[in-house]
Amino acid sequence: MSSRQPPSSFRSRAIALMKDRSVNAAVKLGTARKVIARLKAWGELGEPEVARLRAAAKAAKAKVMRDLPAYWEQFRSQVEGRGGQVRFCQDGAAACRAVAEIALAAGARLAVKSKSMATEEIHLNSALAAASVEAVETDLGEFILQLAGETPSHIVGPAMHKNRFDVAALFSKDAGRTIAPEPAELLAYARARLRQAFVTADIGITGCNVAVAETGSVCLFTNEGNARLVTSQPRIHIVVVGIEKLVATWEDYEPILALLARSATGQRITAYSTVVNGPRLPGEIDGPDEMHVIVMDNGRSRLLGTPYEEALHCIRCASCLNVCPVYRQTGGHAYAPVYSGPIGAVLNPLLNGMEEYCDLPLHATSLCGACSDACPVGIPLHELLQKLRVQAVAEGRVSGGERLSMRLWGWLWSSPLRYRLFARIARLLSLPLSRGGWLRWAPGIAAGWTAYRDLPAPRGRLLRDRMIERGLAK
Ligand code: SF4
Repeated sequence: MSSRQPPSSFRSRAIALMKDRSVNAAVKLGTARKVIARLKAWGELGEPEVARLRAAAKAAKAKVMRDLPAYWEQFRSQVEGRGGQVRFCQDGAAACRAVAEIALAAGARLAVKSKSMATEEIHLNSALAAASVEAVETDLGEFILQLAGETPSHIVGPAMHKNRFDVAALFSKDAGRTIAPEPAELLAYARARLRQAFVTADIGITGCNVAVAETGSVCLFTNEGNARLVTSQPRIHIVVVGIEKLVATWEDYEPILALLARSATGQRITAYSTVVNGPRLPGEIDGPDEMHVIVMDNGRSRLLGTPYEEALHCIRCASCLNVCPVYRQTGGHAYAPVYSGPIGAVLNPLLNGMEEYCDLPLHATSLCGACSDACPVGIPLHELLQKLRVQAVAEGRVSGGERLSMRLWGWLWSSPLRYRLFARIARLLSLPLSRGGWLRWAPGIAAGWTAYRDLPAPRGRLLRDRMIERGLAK
């Protein structure tokens, strides 16, 4: 493995989480529901329309990536033309400083936030706390996690790993009284608690689902309406957006709008789709006095023009998490903060370095390709993961034992004679271990499989022998 080990490996985090029955059940149920909802929504559109939208979304992202600086300049000139301000930041620390400076200049003490993975990525809340500005998360899932002191475990449902009893315990502790684990009571508490923050906040902070260059617009999709309050109630609105969230035109925005909610939650469109074009203009009834857009690179531009560029096409729908057989067992906290699942296993090593995160492409994927099939913008996730594996091996980040076992495996299976011999020996060895047609325990590295599921025991004759008998093989 790498010379510098992360604090704990994916493997150890995954094993701990898989033993947590409550997390396990919540993640399995949550992801299964989302997969069913997406398939239903895609089914309503029909295969040809889904294919057309996916191709259009992919083309829109590829187009903007070809000339990203020019499109961001266009975005900047549009925003500044309407009185907003745009600042480009090379890394997360610079983006945090920029937000803190705006807050300090305004004498702000309280900020309300709408859900934003970009701000999670740069640990903005800690930076604001260091500047004596309290940040309150207003998305229900994020609010729950803020009370729990945890990071999101899912891109769309950040608190997916928690059930209503967990939430009731957190809310009761926060309230200093018992809040029943009933959805209506939990929502009522969160609503009352957050309403006060909306009214008194000096600053509203949002991410950005899509930025449109031709008009300098910031598009936000939510189901709770909190982004509308965050962008209209406080006197200052700050947007933190990664450089990859841009599209050139409204025509390019359309396929993303059509695909994002359908892929994320199975909805045709989110309950609130908000377009923000700048600070309040004379005569307008609401909106902030100031609007600042912090455009953040944080390692993304390094991917432009490389075989990994397509990772920047991600629209953060989480479909790849929901179908991933690894994510569905472990949940998001087995990965690195903040991006989890297949896209996290791609982005974390690319944005933060192979040294610390190479165990994600090495161990957090089965390379089954379900993620690529589910991705609405056609990112070939399993191919990118495979490329990262090759890179990890080339950089010597794989242990001697793993290298040796893979070499042995390759040697055994690359010769028809050795492969046949291996199949016969494996079959013979497995027979004494099988009970009722199943292998429930296996020794050595095979124990990794049987520890969590049963393996069907070999039955009858080998497929190859039967094919030879029928003249289908020699
Ligand atoms: S990689 Fe594709 S499927 Fe995964 S979150 Fe991004 S857009 Fe969605």
